[in-house]
Amino acid sequence: MSTVEMYPGAEDTEVLRRDVATGCRIAGHRGLCEDILGHISVRSEDSLLIRCRGPRESGLIFTEITDVRRASYEGGLMEKAAGFSVPNEIHIHTEILKVRSDVQAVFHAHPPAIVALDLAGLELLPVVGAYNIPASRMAAKGIPLYSRSVLVNTPALGAEVAEVLGDSPACVMRGHGLVTVGRTVAEAVSRALSLNSLARMMLRSASAGRVPAALPAQDLAQLPDLGAGFNDAHLWRFETAALRAMGLDLAD
Ligand SMILES: [Zn+2]
Repeated sequence: MSTVEMYPGAEDTEVLRRDVATGCRIAGHRGLCEDILGHISVRSEDSLLIRCRGPRESGLIFTEITDVRRASYEGGLMEKAAGFSVPNEIHIHTEILKVRSDVQAVFHAHPPAIVALDLAGLELLPVVGAYNIPASRMAAKGIPLYSRSVLVNTPALGAEVAEVLGDSPACVMRGHGLVTVGRTVAEAVSRALSLNSLARMMLRSASAGRVPAALPAQDLAQLPDLGAGFNDAHLWRFETAALRAMGLDLAD
C-alpha cells in the first residue's frame, strides 16, 4: 500500500461513515441486495471502516452511521460495542484493499440479476450503448468471474477473490454476488448499479427470446468516459434525493 490515492474528505471519518451508510441504503433501495446481505467498506488511516452487524440488524436499507465501525486489516473489530461484529466476509474487503492501492472503497452484495445472469450461462457483455455507457465500457474490458460459490470467510478466500478481481473495477461471484471497487463509495456503488442495470437488460432480452450480442467495435470505441462528475456525483445526488423522497435518508 505505497501510494494510496486520497479520498475526498478522507481526513473526516464522519464523512466516510456517512458515505458508507448512505451507499448501503442506496444498495437496499435499488435492489442490489434482497435483504440483509451485503456491506461496503472504505479505507481509513491504517485500517478500514466497514458496515458491521449490530444488535438491531435490519438490513442494508436501514443502515445507521453507528453500524459503520473501524476494523483492522486482519479482520478484527477495533471499535467494539455490545452486539456488534464484523461481517463474515470482511476478508473480501481487507484482501482487496491490501493489494489495490488505487482503491478506497469496496462494495459487496448479492444482486439477484447479476447472479441469475451468470447462472443462465451468460456473461456481462457490452450490449447497450448510450443507454448505460459506464456498464458497457466495463463489460467491454471483461468482468472477471470468481467461480467458487463459497462464503468468503477467511483471508485465503478473500485473497482468491482479490486475485481474480485483479485490476478490474468489478468481479462477479458465481452463485453469490458481486464485488465492485472505486476511489470513492459513490464510484463503487455507481459501478454496481450500472452492472446491475446491464444484467437486468440482458436477462429481459434473453427472456424475450434473444441473447443480445456485443456492440460492434466501432460503436464501442465511440462511447466516451463521461467522468466521475457525471457518472458518480450526479447519480449519488439522484440516489440520495430518492432516499429522502422515500423517507429512507439518514438523519442529519
Ligand atoms: Zn457475500
